[in-house]
Amino acid sequence: MSEKRKITIAYGDGIGPEIMEATLRILDAAGAMIETEEIEIGEKVYNAGVFSGIRPEAWDSLRSTKVFLKAPVTTPQGGGFKSLNVTTRKALGLFANVRPVVTLTPFVASKHTMDLVIVRENEEDLYAGIEHQQTQDTVQCLKLISKQGSEKIIRYAFEYAKAYNRKKVTCFSKDNIMKLTDGLFHKIFNQIGEEYPEIEKEHRIIDIGSALLADTPEKFDVIVTLNLYGDIISDIAAQVAGSVGLCGSANVGDQCAMFEAIHGSAPDIAGKGIANPSGLINGALMMLVHINQPEVAEKIHNAWLKTLEDGIHTGDIFKEGISSQRVGTAGFADAVIERLGQKPLILKPAEYSREVQKGFEIKVSPIKKEEKKLVGFDLFLDNDSMRPEQIAGVLKNLDNEKILLAFISNRGLKVWPDGLPESFCTSHWRCRFKSRDLTVEIPASEVWEGIRKATEAGLDVVKTENLYTFNGKRGYTDAQAE
Ligand code: NAD
Repeated sequence: MSEKRKITIAYGDGIGPEIMEATLRILDAAGAMIETEEIEIGEKVYNAGVFSGIRPEAWDSLRSTKVFLKAPVTTPQGGGFKSLNVTTRKALGLFANVRPVVTLTPFVASKHTMDLVIVRENEEDLYAGIEHQQTQDTVQCLKLISKQGSEKIIRYAFEYAKAYNRKKVTCFSKDNIMKLTDGLFHKIFNQIGEEYPEIEKEHRIIDIGSALLADTPEKFDVIVTLNLYGDIISDIAAQVAGSVGLCGSANVGDQCAMFEAIHGSAPDIAGKGIANPSGLINGALMMLVHINQPEVAEKIHNAWLKTLEDGIHTGDIFKEGISSQRVGTAGFADAVIERLGQKPLILKPAEYSREVQKGFEIKVSPIKKEEKKLVGFDLFLDNDSMRPEQIAGVLKNLDNEKILLAFISNRGLKVWPDGLPESFCTSHWRCRFKSRDLTVEIPASEVWEGIRKATEAGLDVVKTENLYTFNGKRGYTDAQAE
């Protein structure tokens, strides 16, 4: 190979510069044919007044190289700037987040044995960050799940399993509670799964799934799940395997790909030179495969395994009796570089098959046109002084020959009719108006009239949601206790 492949890199925040420096030294020593183009992202950029955390010209670099090796960045908690990671993943269409987790016992202490891959949906879910304060005491977050987004990630997980000779794909969701959003994901998993008869399929509710992942991770092979669950369970899996500092991640799209560690910027240890660079090294290995340099990836991977096998460990995985030498970030990189060309003696050496580099094209089925009918609406109110029956007393006046007030709920629990006096209520009310005959569409003007009449009656309407049927099937859920 003679041409160097241009890639975009960013040193990030916190431990980012330390682990990036270590990773680039290893890539260079191993003969990776890459030319790096640096962009600045994260805190420095936010503080310079660029609220996205990334400058417009940085997109040009990413658009032209299409490959991004990124160190972690700091995202303010509970306010402030939006996550740059989320923005980058979405802006570049990086729909699949692939996070392999492998235990390296007995050389890296772990109570378990595992070799699994988490395939996390990367663009949807609560990570859209669409949040609103609706009343003085209540805020909301919109969870968006699409058919296309779900099909893409689920197909990716099955194609990945096929390409890497994995035997089983497990879907994690919470469709016993979120029947429409998580329900759609599960349904598409079942549909797409039928196209892969050779692969074993199972579904777990996320809570027991996570518990099993922490307790018997050997039971899992490929896990496909929604964005938030995937984020949480990959930290659990990595920590159970030894340290969050060990695992890398690929964010893959149709055009571009971004490679990183799964962990964050670890401000608690930043600048101390003690961070484990393995997560970013593993991200870089996936990048090398992606840019068709698998032999370099294999060389580094084996040197990395040999380093761990020799007991040369950073503080996060150092254990008396197992480790032989405690090193810092730079010392660990030096040890890997010294071992380039060597293979582990006991751990299974890495082999990067040529088949795997081909990648796989993910096609999405066209969306079939369905008959959509407006059959009602939910009127949301801000009210901190009235009881449910008083609100119902006012809203009953909105009933007409087409619609009627069906129920009032508070935080999802039906409180009228037949509510319990013990139920605690906030100031955020949902009042459902339904078509008297659900097979008959109501005109959109009923919604506007509903808002107008409720407002004129002195109620504070904070939003409405339309109720639709699609091909006669309800596109909304009932209230709890309905
Ligand atoms: P974190 O992953 O940064 O740290 C969690 C714990 O793990 C800390 O005790 C840290 O010292 C330790 N740790 C993490 N990486 C390590 C490594 N390589 N070697 C040794 N120990 C390591 O998670 P956090 O503290 O919740 O988040 C810190 C910041 O990172 C936040 O601003 C968060 O938004 C951001 N973050 C960024 C990314 C990303 O850029 N992809 C991902 C997750 C979190």
